[in-house]
Amino acid sequence: MLWPSYKDLLSSGNFRERIDKAYKIMESCTLCPRNCMVNRLKGEKGYCGAGDKLMVSSYGAHYGEESPLVGRGGSGTIFLTNCNLRCIFCQNYDISHMDRGNVKTPEELAEMMLSLESDGCHNINFVTPTHYMPHIIHGIKIAAEAGLSVPIVWNCGGYESEDMIKLLDSIVDIYMPDFKFWDKEISLKLVNADDYRERACESFREMHRQTGDLVVDEKGLAKKGMLVRHLVLPENMAGTKDVMTFIAKELSGNTYVNIMDQYRPCFESKKVKAMDRRPTGAEYDLAVKESHECGITRLDRKEDRLRWMV
Ligand code: SF4
Repeated sequence: MLWPSYKDLLSSGNFRERIDKAYKIMESCTLCPRNCMVNRLKGEKGYCGAGDKLMVSSYGAHYGEESPLVGRGGSGTIFLTNCNLRCIFCQNYDISHMDRGNVKTPEELAEMMLSLESDGCHNINFVTPTHYMPHIIHGIKIAAEAGLSVPIVWNCGGYESEDMIKLLDSIVDIYMPDFKFWDKEISLKLVNADDYRERACESFREMHRQTGDLVVDEKGLAKKGMLVRHLVLPENMAGTKDVMTFIAKELSGNTYVNIMDQYRPCFESKKVKAMDRRPTGAEYDLAVKESHECGITRLDRKEDRLRWMV
């Protein structure tokens, strides 16, 4: 078995078939649970705002990610333009809602990946990739043929289609989805999707089936597995206890989880009551306590990030 897993797929000769299948889906787009069914190959746009071409807003080594991704060389992040979730509280709304970015070909995307690896990044981290899955897996094949050898990170919002995640089997090494909210009414208000929880649960099970719990090497760098992010919201709008119960019981108590405290009102968040303030320290501490009580044993610790700096 070759590693990273995309090398295995490359040597099996089945990569092209996977790419063709993904592009074909764009003819009547169901790449995500919005199921817009627009013909993106003809340039039509659906909820995410993406057309036929890949758009990238920026790329580079990133040191603010979780410590197993960062190490000394950083995580090689590639920020994609547009988004299938379009949260009303998005901190990157110019990228996700306002089309800020440049058109790139899969060949140019492959060049970005190779240059990030040669700069010393430990992985290639696609941020908000769902709506560009065909172009991205196309780019990964080109980069793999040219010798790419670091893990691929799929850094997504958690509103994914299980069938599309199946298309990524043996291409993605590390899944890093958000699990944003549990309550249907809340997800309807904040991301206009009352089925967020159901789609997240289905796709998380599939991600975990493919890659399992996060595996790190002797230096503590992530090689394979799943890493979940959960942003604490004011007045427990994220439903932390329910989310953590699902992760601990249906995936594994050993799932690597980052409980994040950086929510701040942004973009259109003030339209929803309670989203007009940051969570308090007590609300954050309660979320961490509840996660432990639900059986999560592997929480991201900020102090681990400092050890790479000494
Ligand atoms: S990827 Fe975009 S166009 Fe396709 S179903 Fe999702 S939101 Fe609609």
